[in-house]
Amino acid sequence: MSKQHAGVILRVYPGSLAEELELVPGDKIIAINEQELNDIIDLSFAMADEEIDMLIEHADGQQEMISFDKDFDEELGVEFESAVFDGIRNCANHCYFCFVDMIAPHMRSSLSIKDDDYRLSFLYGNFVTMTNMGPRDFKRIEQYHLSPLYVSVQCMNPELRAQMLRCKGAAKIAEQLDNLEKAGCDYHTQVVLCAGLNDGPELERTIRDIVARRPHALSMAIVPVGLTKYRDDPFPLRQFDAEGAARVIDEVEKWQAKIRQEEGRTFIYLGDEFYLLAGREVPKTDFYDGFPQLDNGIGLTRSFLNDWEKTEEVTDSYSEPVYLDVVTGTSVAPVLQQLADSVQKENLYIRIVPVKNDHFGHTVNVSGLLTAKDIMKTLDSLPGPRTGILIPESALRSGEDIFLDDVSLEEFQAHYPEARIEPVQGGKDFRLALTGWNAYHKDRQNETAYTWQSNAGYTKNIQY
Ligand code: SF4
Repeated sequence: MSKQHAGVILRVYPGSLAEELELVPGDKIIAINEQELNDIIDLSFAMADEEIDMLIEHADGQQEMISFDKDFDEELGVEFESAVFDGIRNCANHCYFCFVDMIAPHMRSSLSIKDDDYRLSFLYGNFVTMTNMGPRDFKRIEQYHLSPLYVSVQCMNPELRAQMLRCKGAAKIAEQLDNLEKAGCDYHTQVVLCAGLNDGPELERTIRDIVARRPHALSMAIVPVGLTKYRDDPFPLRQFDAEGAARVIDEVEKWQAKIRQEEGRTFIYLGDEFYLLAGREVPKTDFYDGFPQLDNGIGLTRSFLNDWEKTEEVTDSYSEPVYLDVVTGTSVAPVLQQLADSVQKENLYIRIVPVKNDHFGHTVNVSGLLTAKDIMKTLDSLPGPRTGILIPESALRSGEDIFLDDVSLEEFQAHYPEARIEPVQGGKDFRLALTGWNAYHKDRQNETAYTWQSNAGYTKNIQY
């Protein structure tokens, strides 16, 4: 066998086939039925056989061949350290708007991975530019039916795309989308909109081209560029202001109405930030057609409001005063304030606490990029009693109790001994926490990432 890659087992599920085979965390799966494994996609297809010879390397370096029979759809029941055994494929670009390049120094290393890996796109919905993909990749996509993918289009003008991504090959976007289509792959698309660059007539062109690619093109998201104070790229970029956001909404609405008339769905969705920035109400649920790009943050506000609506409030009364501070990014604070105002309960005092992002700069206004230090700075400036602090779960690392700046939830809690700290993820949590604080507790133990679930399915549970 040439170059050996291996799937390193992180966790073995109780009662699983893996447990029966006595596999343990740290074991590496090197090959199945003599087939090399580059990722969990290879592994899942190899495991579709009923007779398996599995080559394992134990933590002490000893190799062992385990042979067993299984039902073709029987799951192995393990979680791997990474879904891609041969390493994450990095990007070949230097985009004007790259957020990884704008991350503050000394942030944790997982934030600075410039991945552009079509396998992670299929498995977890990460967006890829396809500038590092060749014929072998498209063949594999076809062979394994890896569909849909998520493609960062940015614009369909070849020269402008090559310029924005600082990659000559980026000009071939139309050809690469053709390749996907020939491989039988459908795709969701995204445009990171930069004011004065790929908006206006360029956006018109991009929309026209992508719309013409239906039904292979499944959806189109348009999100405004985000800039942090650490950006030192020489190319000047501008963010949208309220007026610019309103203009984009008006321009895109024409297309949305046209497509809704043609096929009864919206197809093009704007990032929530456009509506929040323009001070307009986010669209209704029907408009989002089942929220195809929710993992990309599209429709998160409406989904939050829906979850709130669907959740019955806790009717128990508060016998003692309860003072709750709700930590949030500045953009969504008015929405949370409205919901909090609708809660009428004796002895309940809610304070919405919008936190300015000093760490990344005040133009960064989402809850998910708040650091513990900024949150503490804001809270410490607010006097008054405090029973509990609700923090956005998105500000914590997926499945871990650690903020972006490596401050642990425990350290944060120690700073506020008088208050109980609880993460809140969506509208359901928010309503339960406000109306039933004494019983509310968020259990985060079961969250995982990179789980291979079955021969034909994958869990997609990474948080953004
Ligand atoms: S594709 Fe562009 S935005 Fe994405 S990681 Fe690479 S340089 Fe950054």
